[in-house]
Amino acid sequence: MYDAGVTEQSERPARPARSESRESIALRAIRGSHPELAEAVDMHLELVELHRRVQGRVPLPWLEISEEVMRRHAAEARPVLRFEDIPLDLTDLRLLVRQTADILRRHGAIEDADFQKVESLGRDMTLLAVAGDWYRSAADAHAVASQATQSPGIDDAVSQVLGLAMRPFLSRCAEVLQPREELALWPHPYCGLCGGEPDLAVITPTAERHLICGRCSLRWKYEPLTCPYCRNADRARITSFATTDGQYRVYACDVCRKYLKAYDGRRATRPVMPLVDTVAMLPLDAAAMQRGYSG
Ligand SMILES: [Zn+2]
Ligand SMILES: [Zn+2]
Repeated sequence: MYDAGVTEQSERPARPARSESRESIALRAIRGSHPELAEAVDMHLELVELHRRVQGRVPLPWLEISEEVMRRHAAEARPVLRFEDIPLDLTDLRLLVRQTADILRRHGAIEDADFQKVESLGRDMTLLAVAGDWYRSAADAHAVASQATQSPGIDDAVSQVLGLAMRPFLSRCAEVLQPREELALWPHPYCGLCGGEPDLAVITPTAERHLICGRCSLRWKYEPLTCPYCRNADRARITSFATTDGQYRVYACDVCRKYLKAYDGRRATRPVMPLVDTVAMLPLDAAAMQRGYSG
């Protein structure tokens, strides 16, 4: 009887964790339909939960946004958020850097030597300065009157970890600009808030294409068939293909050979979620690279 009791216990359906996020639920669904993506799903489940824990306590920054400010920044190709405006908490940033490095290491996404480097950066007094260099390397990259000397070369692994560790702070900043109608005055193919490159797009129900920043997740409208990396607008030199379910699409540029992935919101049952859709689109990355394009 004891055994039967134990069996009954273990067969009870697992109750979902308390207040599981939409992202976690969507990630688990991906694992169900694509078991081959299990490793990437598990890694992102941890990242999503880490971000959620910290993001809830990041205050919204105060940003001066007006038509005049937006027009000036657009003309100077200078994103509106300065590093000094980011509501950074050094204790939380240290925690994010070290835990992100640990998650990447446990899932085999970072080499041991790189892990040691990033882990010690998480304890180092220079963390804030390195984060500032990382931030400005993209924010100042396009500026017309940039006095910035060539961006100090930032180590790839450090960049990768900072890109994830800075997300909770940068997404809070994006929340301030996202609902503002002045955002429509930003005409460039890189982020008007932080200068990051788009690493994803979403096609809206009215067939507009909105680019999504790879650093802060800001979304802004951009021409539907122009390559955001080299601005090639010749439709004949853009190769576009979709997944069989029509949920995701790739726009590959035959001029610069880079590609952009898009979530097709016209066929969607849920809103786009950058960290989740990045995982769901891994097979598309493979397909694009197989055709000779690079991400
Ligand atoms: Zn951004
Ligand atoms: Zn291009």
